[in-house]
Amino acid sequence: MISTAAVRGNANPGIVPPWLQGADAGTPTAAAPATAVARGAHAAGTTHPIGVIGAPARDVNRGVVIIGTAEELDRWLNGDHGPQGDFGHGHDHGGAGLAPDEHAAPYRHDSAKEAAELVVAKQEMSSIRDFFRTLGVKDSEGNDPAPVSIDDSVENAYYDPNTDEVVIGELPLSQIEDGAEDVSFTKAPDVLAHEWSHRIVSHLVPGIQDGGEDAAINESLADTFAAAYDTKNWTIGEGLGLTIRTLDHPERDTIEHAGGHPGSVADVDRMFREGSEYITEEGQPEPHALSALPSKAASLIGQGLGRDTMAKIYLKAVRDYMEPGKKIEGLASNTIQSATDLFGAGSKQVGVVKQAWDAVGVLELLDGNGGSTRDRASTQSRMRTEPPLGASFGERA
Ligand SMILES: [Zn+2]
Repeated sequence: MISTAAVRGNANPGIVPPWLQGADAGTPTAAAPATAVARGAHAAGTTHPIGVIGAPARDVNRGVVIIGTAEELDRWLNGDHGPQGDFGHGHDHGGAGLAPDEHAAPYRHDSAKEAAELVVAKQEMSSIRDFFRTLGVKDSEGNDPAPVSIDDSVENAYYDPNTDEVVIGELPLSQIEDGAEDVSFTKAPDVLAHEWSHRIVSHLVPGIQDGGEDAAINESLADTFAAAYDTKNWTIGEGLGLTIRTLDHPERDTIEHAGGHPGSVADVDRMFREGSEYITEEGQPEPHALSALPSKAASLIGQGLGRDTMAKIYLKAVRDYMEPGKKIEGLASNTIQSATDLFGAGSKQVGVVKQAWDAVGVLELLDGNGGSTRDRASTQSRMRTEPPLGASFGERA
């Protein structure tokens, strides 16, 4: 089977929602915006899942890159491919793990394009690891020189907490846009940083994304750290020639949702209705879309204090305070506490963090003790009541 995303996607929603992974492109669902499905249908004349008869042949580029030190990368670029060489078993579908096997076939790439993907991925991942080391993340916190799978047969990029595996595949753009070619996620430094961030967050907060709003919080943290690494703008995915998400302007059209993403609690109330494109088939809020709410706050913090300070505040919040199974206002509380630890209760930094969460409407969901007023379910707001938002903002299948 060429298409493995549907199977492998279970562990993690990846950088893009399932409908963007191609396999279900012909089936409009609540999670698949009609506009995008229509574009796909227009592009191909008729939609088809990848791998069926008549579908164009895909090149398959598979391998594992080992993220080493800058010195090891230099040696590798100069032709020394061992013992930090790249081994060709890709990510193992039999679940045998990722450890490079000296008997494995060499990394398979049969075009200059694929060879370039490998070099770019290796350089970028090494640089991302250096960024987190400089930020203060220890190797034991998910920043060790682990293998990363490059696999063009996967229609997504994701981190799987069950196997501790980062997999970088392709965005199946040919299914979405007329005349477009599939594009490797290695072209997007912020996507690579996003996936590596998932690995670190998962090591710092074991169990995150098992349920509740964790999935959206996790996506937001990954975008926030990605924006601290790739500081050219607040968009995610521009290296692919498109926009996956825009942290500072979530309302803008993106490849995920033509109607944009929520930038405030009021937006969530308005957009995340039963049957809307923002609610998955399982009745859950689509985590990438919901992540835009806390990500907007992060962008305001970054604009007010600089992205390095933003990243420091978030790292301490995640490392020292975050627990799985909390709500978005829990993240707000954690960042306020973290900024207080770092800069003092009366500091400008704490003020900016509070202002940011206030601007998106989350601050008022916090009670005086860092808890959530939503737990008391006393207003008409969907954000503040459960149900109905408890049903959609609640447990994740
Ligand atoms: Zn993600």
